[in-house]
Amino acid sequence: MLTQLDELHTQSLAQLKQAETTAVLETWYKETLGRKGSIYLMTRQIGSLSAAERPLFGQRINKVKKELEAAYENRLAELKASELQAKMEASAIDVTLPGRKQRQGRLHIATQTLRQIYAIWADMGFQVYRSRDVETDEYNFELLNIPQHHPARDMWDTFHTTTPGVILRTHTSPGQIHAMREYYPEPIRVILPGMCYRYEQVTARSELQFHQVEGLAVGKNITMTDLKGTLTDFARRMFGAQRQVRFRANYFPFTEPSAEMDVECIICDGDGCNVCKYTGWVEILGCGMVHPNVLRNGGYDPAIYSGFAFGMGPERIAMLKYRIDDIRYFWGNDLRFLEQF
Ligand SMILES: [Zn+2]
Repeated sequence: MLTQLDELHTQSLAQLKQAETTAVLETWYKETLGRKGSIYLMTRQIGSLSAAERPLFGQRINKVKKELEAAYENRLAELKASELQAKMEASAIDVTLPGRKQRQGRLHIATQTLRQIYAIWADMGFQVYRSRDVETDEYNFELLNIPQHHPARDMWDTFHTTTPGVILRTHTSPGQIHAMREYYPEPIRVILPGMCYRYEQVTARSELQFHQVEGLAVGKNITMTDLKGTLTDFARRMFGAQRQVRFRANYFPFTEPSAEMDVECIICDGDGCNVCKYTGWVEILGCGMVHPNVLRNGGYDPAIYSGFAFGMGPERIAMLKYRIDDIRYFWGNDLRFLEQF
């Protein structure tokens, strides 16, 4: 019996060593130390031994049982560790690999330029006044002193909606009327930024849609001098403190007198280059004293009130500043262009 026990002991230990997975190990446990396992079956044979042999056999079988239990626990720990290891290796993350680059978003160059313009005008006490993109013919043209059949209408070929007389605005100027009608009789200092739309051939110089920033100041005793001083200050804040400006007489239906403002070329500092066509000057905005008819349409009596207005194109300013030679890049959604700013 003792020999049999020793054999069982040796054999069980050998089997234990061969168990390569926890599943095999569990089967081994059931068959060896389980309730109907080989050790149990041997324990039951104790009855066939003589009374003298029983204590010795009992001790031995307990000892074997304990040793096998301990061996089982060790093997189980080993297998669990190696199985975990294998699992980790299978789904390994190599922490030494460089990470995937996160694309960082940024503001569109037009938005950046707009914000720069807002900040400068805010410093000078001008509020942002938002106005609608869809306008009536009356607001877009007539109230701005451009009646039907006025030749100036040829300057702005527009998009019409299916509702007669309702169009996409061709300039931000209709906002002047909205602002005046809302604020009368208070003095006004606003800028009116927004998208404008024109039915035009798309070329490197002109797009179907573009931003404009309109400005309007209305009050008592506002003169051309105020216009020149304010716009010169804007140009110097935008393009540099030493920047020279000049005003050239022009024509707009909604201002009288009207002018265009040029700044010293920001590329060549006035020496002459292909951007300024070797004149040393680039045009950045149109301006003028608000026409009496427009003041009247906004509710202000031109005998008491006066004002000035101006309009500029942020994309055009960005084009000059960064030497962008094609306006189509702005809405082409090409990352190679957008990521440069
Ligand atoms: Zn130049």
